[in-house]
Amino acid sequence: MREGLYSIVGSTGIGEVADTYAVQGALPSAVVMPESEAEVAALMEYANGARYPCVVAGSGTHLDLLEPPTGDWWLLSTRRLARVVDYSPQDLVLTVGVGMTLQAVQELLRPHNQHLPWNPPLPEQATIGGIVASNRNGSWRYRFGTPRDRLLAIRAVRTDGIPFKSGAKVVKSVAGYDLHRLLCGSWGTLAVITEITLKVQPMPQAFEAVGWRVAWDALEPTLATLMRMTLEPDGITVVALKAAPDPALQPLTLSEPPQPLVLLEFSGREEAVAWQIQSLREQGYPLTSIPAEALQALRDYLAPRRHALLLQVLMRPSEVAPMLQEWSALPNVSLIAYAGSGVVYVAADEAGLTEALVQRCRALRHKYRVLRGAKWLHAQTGGELPQLHLSVGELRLMRQLKTVLDPKSALPNLV
Ligand SMILES: Cc1cc2nc3c(=O)[nH]c(=O)nc-3n(C[C@H](O)[C@H](O)[C@H](O)COP(=O)(O)OP(=O)(O)OC[C@H]3O[C@@H](n4cnc5c(N)ncnc54)[C@H](O)[C@@H]3O)c2cc1C
Repeated sequence: MREGLYSIVGSTGIGEVADTYAVQGALPSAVVMPESEAEVAALMEYANGARYPCVVAGSGTHLDLLEPPTGDWWLLSTRRLARVVDYSPQDLVLTVGVGMTLQAVQELLRPHNQHLPWNPPLPEQATIGGIVASNRNGSWRYRFGTPRDRLLAIRAVRTDGIPFKSGAKVVKSVAGYDLHRLLCGSWGTLAVITEITLKVQPMPQAFEAVGWRVAWDALEPTLATLMRMTLEPDGITVVALKAAPDPALQPLTLSEPPQPLVLLEFSGREEAVAWQIQSLREQGYPLTSIPAEALQALRDYLAPRRHALLLQVLMRPSEVAPMLQEWSALPNVSLIAYAGSGVVYVAADEAGLTEALVQRCRALRHKYRVLRGAKWLHAQTGGELPQLHLSVGELRLMRQLKTVLDPKSALPNLV
């Protein structure tokens, strides 16, 4: 397998088999770094024909949701597919190779006073391909939507090595199915994306984050009031951290007596941001300013591989406060909620993996996703948990789609 792959990319395209490319603990037999779409196509055609399964990765920060292929498999690293293909600041449209990191893209946009309103963990590692393929999002989803909402077009390579494109480099395009949006969120299970066209936006004049502590039983009315106010925050987050592994998180950890922190982020014209913060002060909220390093440390805290268990629970925004209050008594368990979007993260260290936590998980009636510690939950509940609540119909359709686009299982499945 190695010789065949290496002969396509040459010596400069041979990567190191590093732990960061492990999928559920399994390492690839080879790491290959193509530098053009033509090389990606040749690699996929060769490997699909020879039945060597492949995992696609950017920086490999989020490979935990994939099932490792069985037998000998190889990893296609996109890190050399990192060129700027086209940037038209006057049209607010950018096309880049998938291996470019978010930080590099923001640096490219900054001199033109533009940016991508995305705030993921580890922006210096997160590649544009990884972000789009996972379609995950953070607190700013409340105001700015998901990566899919900014996606105008992609170029990609099918598992049999045939390149294709979908979408167009204009904001309005109406031709056929939105195949590019189907690939967004497909986690590298359907095709290899090589180029991405995104709608960028003007950089706001001001960014400001403020927070204050509330008693647990005041959290629900506080969130309800915030949602009803005529404010436009980028995100509304509730933070109940039991410990601060990173010193930058110190301002966000639980106070004594333990009270969660409500955190609001604003951006836009200076006077609009100032007006919104003034409105909060007039409501009597005792605001303090939250430093940018603390915000980034909070996002990085949610990157995979940091906790024994990291659950992501989805619900209606009105259900967030009651759940947080109920779960707050669990020892060694920290809670972060994107309250405006109805997403709660539950992070536990080894000491937090208790029977009480399992009982709480059993009681969840909603969808949830286990990013780590799935094995532990599985063992504790005799295989009953974790489960992702997809309907039978949805699952069947997803399997059919996978069979059509990847008939020889060249790419992995989701766990
Ligand atoms: C606004 C925002 C907030 C986020 N918040 C969080 C958060 O709180 N917690 C969190 O865990 N994540 C979050 N994410 C997601 C996370 O940042 C990205 O998924 C990750 O950083 C991608 O980086 P990577 O290069 O390491 O991807 P990788 O880990 O290498 O890949 C991620 C997935 O995409 C697939 N993939 C990668 N490149 C391609 C390609 N070219 N073609 C096809 N498939 C590909 C891989 O197979 C894998 O399944 C957020 C993302 C955004 C945009």
